Amino acid sequence: MKICLPEMTGKRVLLHACCAPCCASIIKRLSDSGFEVTVFFYNPNVYPREEYAKRKQEVIRYAGKNRIFFVDGDYDPDRWFEWTRGHEESPERGERCGLCFDMRLKKTAAYAAENEFQVFTSSLGISRWKDFDQVTRSGKKAASLFPGTIYCDINWRKDGGIELMSRITHEEKFYRQDYCGCLYSLESYKQKAQNLNHGKVFPPASSIL
Ligand code: SF4
Repeated sequence: MKICLPEMTGKRVLLHACCAPCCASIIKRLSDSGFEVTVFFYNPNVYPREEYAKRKQEVIRYAGKNRIFFVDGDYDPDRWFEWTRGHEESPERGERCGLCFDMRLKKTAAYAAENEFQVFTSSLGISRWKDFDQVTRSGKKAASLFPGTIYCDINWRKDGGIELMSRITHEEKFYRQDYCGCLYSLESYKQKAQNLNHGKVFPPASSIL
C-alpha cells in the first residue's frame, strides 16, 4: 500500500529505529512509496552493551542490504539511567516508558532539525507490546521542541504492517530479543521465566483447550 505523507514538501524521512524486526517493514513501505529513508539508531535504553551491539548490527545489516542511509546515535546508557531515575519500579507502558520514548525521540527530532529533515517517525509504536498513543505523544512533544520538524504518526501496525513485519523478520532470520530493552524489562522477563520454570505461572485455559 502506498504511503502518503501530505504535510511533506520533500522526500526525505528520518526513521528512528529500535531494532531490525520493528523497522524493516517501515523501511520497505516508505522506500516502495518513493521516500528516501535515513535510519537513526539511538537506543541508550538497551542493556547490556552486548545486547545493544546485536540489535544495532542487525539494523546495519538490513540497511546496508537495502542501500538505506544509517546514522549511529550515541550509546549513552548512563544518561538514560539518569533520565529515568526514580521510575525503576514503573511497569511496562508506565511512566518510565514515556520518559524513555521522550529521550529517544527528542534526540531524533534534534538530528532531524540539524540535518534538514522535515519529517521523522519511529518504529517504536509498531510492537503490540508498546502503547502506540504513548509513543505518538512523545513524538509530537519532541517535534514541538524543534520548529520545522513534524512527527509522522502513522500507525505502522495497520494496513498489513504487522504481516509484512512478520514476513521480513522470517525471511531475514533477524535476531529477535526476548525483552523490550532496558535493565528493568530484562529483570522482569527473567522473573517471569523463573516463575514459569517453578510452575508458579500456569498457561491460560484458552491456550490448552
Ligand atoms: S520497558 Fe522498554 S520502553 Fe519501557 S523503559 Fe524499558 S526499554 Fe524503555
